[in-house]
Amino acid sequence: MHFFEYRGNELYAEDVPVRLLAEKYGTPLYIYSSSSLAMHFKAYDEAYGAFPHIICYALKANTNGAVLRLLAKQGCGADIVSGGELFRALKAGISAGKIVYAGVGKTEEEIRFALKSKILMFNVESEDELQEIDRIAGSMKLKAPIALRINPDIDPMTHPYISTGMKEHKFGIPIDRAVEYYRKASRLRNIDVVGVQKHIGSQITKITPFVDAVNRTLVLLDELKRRDFNIKYLDIGGGLGITYLTEKPPTPADIAKKLLPLINGRGVTLIMEPGRSVVGNAGILVTKTLYLKKSGGKDFVIVDAGMNDLMRPSLYDAYHHIVPVLKTRRARIKVDIVGPICESGDFLAKGRSLNKVGRGEFLAVMSAGAYGMSMSSTYNSRPKAAEVLVSGKTHALTGRRGSYEDLVRHEVMPGFLK
Ligand SMILES: *Cc1c(COP(=O)(O)O)cnc(C)c1O
Repeated sequence: MHFFEYRGNELYAEDVPVRLLAEKYGTPLYIYSSSSLAMHFKAYDEAYGAFPHIICYALKANTNGAVLRLLAKQGCGADIVSGGELFRALKAGISAGKIVYAGVGKTEEEIRFALKSKILMFNVESEDELQEIDRIAGSMKLKAPIALRINPDIDPMTHPYISTGMKEHKFGIPIDRAVEYYRKASRLRNIDVVGVQKHIGSQITKITPFVDAVNRTLVLLDELKRRDFNIKYLDIGGGLGITYLTEKPPTPADIAKKLLPLINGRGVTLIMEPGRSVVGNAGILVTKTLYLKKSGGKDFVIVDAGMNDLMRPSLYDAYHHIVPVLKTRRARIKVDIVGPICESGDFLAKGRSLNKVGRGEFLAVMSAGAYGMSMSSTYNSRPKAAEVLVSGKTHALTGRRGSYEDLVRHEVMPGFLK
């Protein structure tokens, strides 16, 4: 469920007509719904009820400061993968004690920043990284709380690019060697072993991979307890899918129903790292049609949003519903909806059946709240899209549209060319 629905022929974002927003703020425009964000967070929070849990929203799905602030106010934590994300999370008011830090390539500077900030734990992905965190923590006279990220070798049955928990992937530590790694970690003086973590992939729409992966992780957890490791946190990652087309992913409550009986009585706090399922259906991308053209027996609708604004179709061949902001009864035609970028891979949809559109009309790309703006670039020197947050009848700019000056602001002209 989300809060982008037609009233009559007109698409609304909560209680605001999308057309009004597109006219006021211009296009391409990302629109996020407050109620939708809050509802998605609550779905997780309530699913686990009184069971000790922390929901660490995966920032990489959408890093807009207002989105983060809204979630922070609900008590949400953060799953970060870089120093930049740590900076954003803290700036938005997410408490450091609810921040977990993943990623295979943490730099010394990033590790120092995280230690200084007193985050909840590092999710460590290799022995080298463990040694490095130990060394840096020692130099700061601190103890670094860590979990090891376990690769449980489970196929999440999703797109290969967003699948992370099989043995051929670069992520985590092979589960069959985990005990050995934990022993090594426990011998390091500046390391405090506090957790076990796994994350097997994204856009997972079946319950079985989650349950299988948790079961494998629990075998390890029990083994570690037997060996007197004081494991306080079981971090099961994120990855729950959303509906883009006809997917019927389980709800957080469906998953909780399966997981709670498994983890009950094990004396751990459960950590989850949802990204897409919190923000995905809470955002849309509005674009304007620029031109219509026929070529090679095909109809093209050329719009003002490109792969630099929303990369998912180009990168993963991902499907997004695309609907008119004002519904019409015009004849349906089959079109490719493409952006202005000079790449054949620049498309939002291919062979899509749509009521005929005219120039200067608005289309909404649905389910664009996750991995949309956060993956965007200024390729082709296209300034970044604007972002707006809607709450009931209220709306506010939460991301200023990029300017031409923004494109060159960071550049430095060398003296010998001045
Ligand atoms: C990307 C990522 C997530 C979030 O994944 P979603 O599919 O967006 O829920 C969580 N944890 C880690 C370690 C990740 O890399």
